Amino acid sequence: MAEKVLVILVCISQHVSLLAEVSVSNHTILAQFCKDHHVGLVVVGPEVPLAAGIVDDLTAAGVTCFGPSAKAAQLEASKSFSKAFMERHGIPTARYGSFSDPEEACSYIRTADFPALVVKASGLAAGKGVIVAGDQDEACRAVMDIMKDRAFGVAGETVVVEELLEGEEVSCLCFSDGLSVAPMPPAQDHKRLQDGDLGPNTGGMGAYCPTPQVSRELLQQITEMVLQKTVDGMKAEGTPYVGVLYAGLMLTRQGPKVLEFNCRFGDPECQVLLPLLKSDLYEVILNTLNGKLASSAPMWHQDSSAVTVVMASAGYPGSYKKGVDIKGLSQVQDMGLQVFHAGTTLKDGGGVVSSGGRVLTVTAVRPSLEAALQAANRGVAAVGFPGSVYRRDIGHRAIGHLQH
Ligand code: ATP
Repeated sequence: MAEKVLVILVCISQHVSLLAEVSVSNHTILAQFCKDHHVGLVVVGPEVPLAAGIVDDLTAAGVTCFGPSAKAAQLEASKSFSKAFMERHGIPTARYGSFSDPEEACSYIRTADFPALVVKASGLAAGKGVIVAGDQDEACRAVMDIMKDRAFGVAGETVVVEELLEGEEVSCLCFSDGLSVAPMPPAQDHKRLQDGDLGPNTGGMGAYCPTPQVSRELLQQITEMVLQKTVDGMKAEGTPYVGVLYAGLMLTRQGPKVLEFNCRFGDPECQVLLPLLKSDLYEVILNTLNGKLASSAPMWHQDSSAVTVVMASAGYPGSYKKGVDIKGLSQVQDMGLQVFHAGTTLKDGGGVVSSGGRVLTVTAVRPSLEAALQAANRGVAAVGFPGSVYRRDIGHRAIGHLQH
């Protein structure tokens, strides 16, 4: 680290645990807390505080805070905004309609010439507000569930109806200082619970990076046609985008198309991206905040691959038991692997127990994807976590791609 600095992460628990518990939603108290404890940098993780203006408020109070402003975070917080933005700036995405009236949404569905449709609540719905509809009737029912029955609350006041895209999904992220972008290596998440991409959707069961399906040329194209165009468009509209920009893309036969933007690192993509970052993250963040990305692009480990495997509680993504003992974590570290905790807590008297759905991830960085995958799988097998659910085939698409 360049200088001694206290960094706090605003995390999903909605509380900052440092010396005291501080509510993340009260920005005035949070700013005072940061000042009292000489916090040098705040890095915001989740989307809700970003959309609520945490970066605007902490910055105005003189606390250095990394992430987009509330206006710029609309790219994630409002799908209706982001689709219209992409249309205005010629950024490739699925054809769509946006509606605040359910009858209009249904008549669009009945007349659309798309073979299949996806219905989305426009607002933030914790990744649950997207319904891939089998036919027009199902799409209309989804509209009614979202708009009339308020399945996702106010997030469903507006719906986006779009054509179903086919292809492979990848995640392309970059740092943006408002002017320039510095792309990260491409990554791929695994949304389904079970091996072979079967079972229900989850928050993500594992990821790997880089993805050989995205060649250097394709990444260059995505950087120009999506990431830089987005940052240029946001600047032109008076809402410069500073932070991490995440484009979820479908690699279609017609080229890459944007499924969604996130205004932050994705989980579990973050657990494979940051271990491959060669530069000091603190310096990269400061360069991003100070508009210096063009002259000091972050460096990445070029000859390594990273794989992360998520371990979830039995029953996830449905209901699950908490408080299950987790053993073997120090052995995993002795194997040269990293463990990232998510749904864990310290037990009184020592030891770690589960406290959430997705409990932890085990990350391996090795010279090849195959070696990283084997090492991560060995690490997961060494964690003593009874009943845990995890995938054994993270990276299977890449391995298939490399074998052809
Ligand atoms: P999350 O927060 O989990 O990333 P989200 O609620 O922001 O999700 P999207 O990313 O727009 O929603 O969609 C979630 C998933 O639904 C995508 O990862 C993709 O698998 C699928 N999906 C969304 N839009 C389309 C589309 N037009 N065609 C095909 N699949 C789609």
